[in-house]
Amino acid sequence: MTTANSNTPTPVIAIHGGAGTITRAAMDAGKEAEYTAALRAVLEAGQRLLASGASAVDAVTEAVRLLEECPLFNAGKGAVLTHAGTYELDAAVMDGATRQAGAVACVKRLRNPVLAARAVMERSEHVLFAGEGAEAFAQAQGLELVEPGYYFTEARHAQWQRARATSGMALLDHDAAALAARGSEEGDPGRKRGSDPIDPDRKFGTVGAVALDSRGRLAAATSTGGVTNKQVGRVGDTPIIGAGCYADDVVAVSTTGTGEMFIRAVAAYDIAARMRYAGATLAGASDAVVHECLPAIGGRGGLVAIDAAGNVVLPFNTEGMYRGHARVGDQVHVAIYRQPA
Ligand code: ASP
Repeated sequence: MTTANSNTPTPVIAIHGGAGTITRAAMDAGKEAEYTAALRAVLEAGQRLLASGASAVDAVTEAVRLLEECPLFNAGKGAVLTHAGTYELDAAVMDGATRQAGAVACVKRLRNPVLAARAVMERSEHVLFAGEGAEAFAQAQGLELVEPGYYFTEARHAQWQRARATSGMALLDHDAAALAARGSEEGDPGRKRGSDPIDPDRKFGTVGAVALDSRGRLAAATSTGGVTNKQVGRVGDTPIIGAGCYADDVVAVSTTGTGEMFIRAVAAYDIAARMRYAGATLAGASDAVVHECLPAIGGRGGLVAIDAAGNVVLPFNTEGMYRGHARVGDQVHVAIYRQPA
């Protein structure tokens, strides 16, 4: 946890680019440098926005838009493929000050799903749009549509082919119970890499951001392509307010991981509830969710969260999580692995 150091919180932003089996041993130096530079650039952009007085909602929207534009992460360009070899993206945004929220699910043609989520929040009377209706709404709002080929990257395509090769058709029948069972095998060191039909690389590359602005307002945004080789029509936690994204006047949370379990744990909202109703600290509430509630049902992943005092946590129960945070006027912090170098 990093702690705020004054009564007037300094604006701060935290981001993640997904969690999973991300180990130093498996990472080559070039890739590590690419991820680090990408995270740093996004944090610097968010820091600049917050320094200029931008709202927390603007900061998280822009941070997530930039992460969607970066092919390294599983959101926007670089999204993972469904079992059918198609792309279906989800995103959400929430303004803690007003408790307004917007989300889109299963969109196939939006360049930046987070901008559509923002438009849903601000320009519709609804919270969640799905599929073609979401795309039509976004188009009517002037947002950019793309051909599905836009999302393609060689890396994700190869990952999808491995997932299909190792899991075959059995994946079509996966459900939350199977996911939970697989998650509970996590402690098994002899477990074969690639044995997970959901994501052979054991990486959940969703992106997200949380921020506290100069007026003390909190916001959160999350965006994803989902999990590799997912069934067509499957929706994870990302666009579910309270599961993969939540903000109020106490805390802002954005998650990444096995979405089914994050939905069942109502993970993001559980942190807010523990703080509001039980007086838990940010660190206590988020540790309970990430290290107790989620593992108890096989949930793997992590989250970033900021409270109203400007405290920041970036906990995860996997080997690594692409993550970082930056306070206005301070240096940018980026990390990937569990252990510092
Ligand atoms: N939580 C996302 C989902 O289940 C996946 C991820 O975090 O990478 O769709």
